[in-house]
Amino acid sequence: MSNKRKGTTWAAPNEPDAPIFIQWKGTNVCMDVRCPKCGDHGHIDGDFVYAVECRGCGTLWKLGQAVSMVEFPRDAWGGCDPWPFGGEEGT
Ligand SMILES: [Zn+2]
Repeated sequence: MSNKRKGTTWAAPNEPDAPIFIQWKGTNVCMDVRCPKCGDHGHIDGDFVYAVECRGCGTLWKLGQAVSMVEFPRDAWGGCDPWPFGGEEGT
């Protein structure tokens, strides 16, 4: 699969199997974090979260851009309206 689409280039050269790639733009994020190295965990609410540092082991972790995507039954969805992508008006 080409990573070019309508003149744009996806910014995910190192994660070809992930269907979604976040482009971190300094916006606010709310996330639960678990350290893959020592298992310590916590919660972060903040702006410009491009990296996190584990208080348990001191490891610095750069945030990746790959996000998983799970197919979900449309009639069971109760959240906000889903954002469309692709098709004739794709961006
Ligand atoms: Zn740790």
